[in-house]
Amino acid sequence: MLEAPKNEPILAYRPGSPEHAELASALAGQRAQVVQIPVVAGGRRLSGDATAPVICPHDHAHVLAHVHQASSADVSAGIQAAVAAQREWSQWSFEDRAAVFLKAADLLAGPWRQKLNAATMLGQSKTAYQAEIDSACELIDFLRWNVAFARDLQRSQPVSAPGMRNTLEYRPLEGFVYAVTPFNFTAIGGNLACAPALMGNTVLWKPAASAALSNYFVFELLEAAGLPPGVINFVPGDSHTVSSVALGSEAFAGLHFTGSTAVFDALWRQTAERLPAYRSYPRLVGETGGKDFVLAHPSADVAALSTALLRGAFEYQGQKCSAASRAYVPASLWPALKARLVDELATVRMGDVQDFGNFVGAVIDRKAYDRIGGYLTQARHASEASIVAGGGANDRTGYFIEPTVIEVDDPNFVTMREEIFGPVLSVYVYPDAQWAEVLKLVDSTSPYALTGAVFAQERGALVEASAALRFAAGNFYLNDKPTGAVVGQQPFGGARRSGTNDKAGSALNLLRWVSPRTIKETYVPAHHYAYPHMD
Ligand code: NAD
Repeated sequence: MLEAPKNEPILAYRPGSPEHAELASALAGQRAQVVQIPVVAGGRRLSGDATAPVICPHDHAHVLAHVHQASSADVSAGIQAAVAAQREWSQWSFEDRAAVFLKAADLLAGPWRQKLNAATMLGQSKTAYQAEIDSACELIDFLRWNVAFARDLQRSQPVSAPGMRNTLEYRPLEGFVYAVTPFNFTAIGGNLACAPALMGNTVLWKPAASAALSNYFVFELLEAAGLPPGVINFVPGDSHTVSSVALGSEAFAGLHFTGSTAVFDALWRQTAERLPAYRSYPRLVGETGGKDFVLAHPSADVAALSTALLRGAFEYQGQKCSAASRAYVPASLWPALKARLVDELATVRMGDVQDFGNFVGAVIDRKAYDRIGGYLTQARHASEASIVAGGGANDRTGYFIEPTVIEVDDPNFVTMREEIFGPVLSVYVYPDAQWAEVLKLVDSTSPYALTGAVFAQERGALVEASAALRFAAGNFYLNDKPTGAVVGQQPFGGARRSGTNDKAGSALNLLRWVSPRTIKETYVPAHHYAYPHMD
């Protein structure tokens, strides 16, 4: 039976609370320094062949760190260190390996908490609450729950007939796992590297450039918890350089990826082309994009729906793979919902996340700012779309885009189909009588199937939607927003073009990082080849 840990409680950061003061002090300290982020291979700090600045998205003139870019030789050194460390690490007992990650969780819950939260706020422009649920709570939960899941998994053993002993040995993969991680969750960065390592693998970790500061602090946290050199090797740098060396190695044994669908496709294609050169068939695990929906039935509670849309679409500037980005609202509810949304959005404050009164920060970088702005321009000029709230953008000090609601007449308008990954919600208003047609529309409009939510007070509508949208989302919410999955409570991942759906933070994911060996021992082996029927 699973010995379930408790989820890490979320601190509130009320003015005057101790955590509020500690976080403010960590923010001030980190703003006053410029960190050098090295490449780390086998515990050795390498300086790479160039550096790139890490900036504050909400104050882009402010440099937080310089991240050293791994050269091809540095990546090779990381791979060699991973391969060299693997035998010993995988022979440690499971409980010794687990102790490293449990200690990291305790350090993060205590003395390291505000260091990680401050770096996530400054480097990724998260508010205090968004950083707390990511770099503190979710990462702590990943570390503790994966240990519980792995213990439970290893208890699953074959039967043994009389005179023999059968064992399933949960070996790691032979070679190294390449973890390629996204900018938007510090916790995902840590988990993609740590989950395979817990199962006895060694890892090459390529963080996203814009999350390099918080991710490097996670790496340092693991070192402080006693992770031996070479088990996880930290290789920030140019994606193409790092990936071509990593995927070019015969020891490449698995990819643990979270990011966009296009990049996962490219990495999958590269591995397919090189397949015969690998010692084993690599495991490819990728959680990718989303175009997450909120569907309201005419019986929906408008206040609950409005709050779910506001939080689901605009928290962390809509830069969650699970963020609500298309909504389907019955005509009978739209006037009340629209009025409420517009009124509430008028009270939302956007700005520097160091001001704890702000609800919205900046989008991650210039590229994202321009991409999202392009969609706003299309909406402004299209006859089938109108901007109901927001629509403004300003990049003078930071990459700020107002939370924006677009009402579309065409349910296939581009902002209803494509992942925007910004604070933009598109709403299609449907005639109440067309509920059945709308279910088909929700299912077929986008190629993704990550998260989705249905709001209805009539249970029959929930039952019907749940069946009709069975394959439209890997995480499906009834009367709740489609974001905010909690480790151990809502295992996360979607199918179709949203990824391989291996459910991060669950036993299903850990299973991908083992290559079990079956061992049969016979106590008294036969001494003659003949069988009784031959007498
Ligand atoms: P991204 O695809 O741009 O980058 C992800 C990682 O891939 C980064 O480390 C990046 O440096 C690297 N990368 C980029 N181009 C590469 C290339 N050509 N070769 C090798 N590596 C490359 O994604 P992002 O902007 O960091 O994150 C946003 C995306 O991630 C969104 O599409 C979002 O939906 C998705 N996401 C999905 C989940 C999920 O669980 N399904 C969770 C978080 C984010």
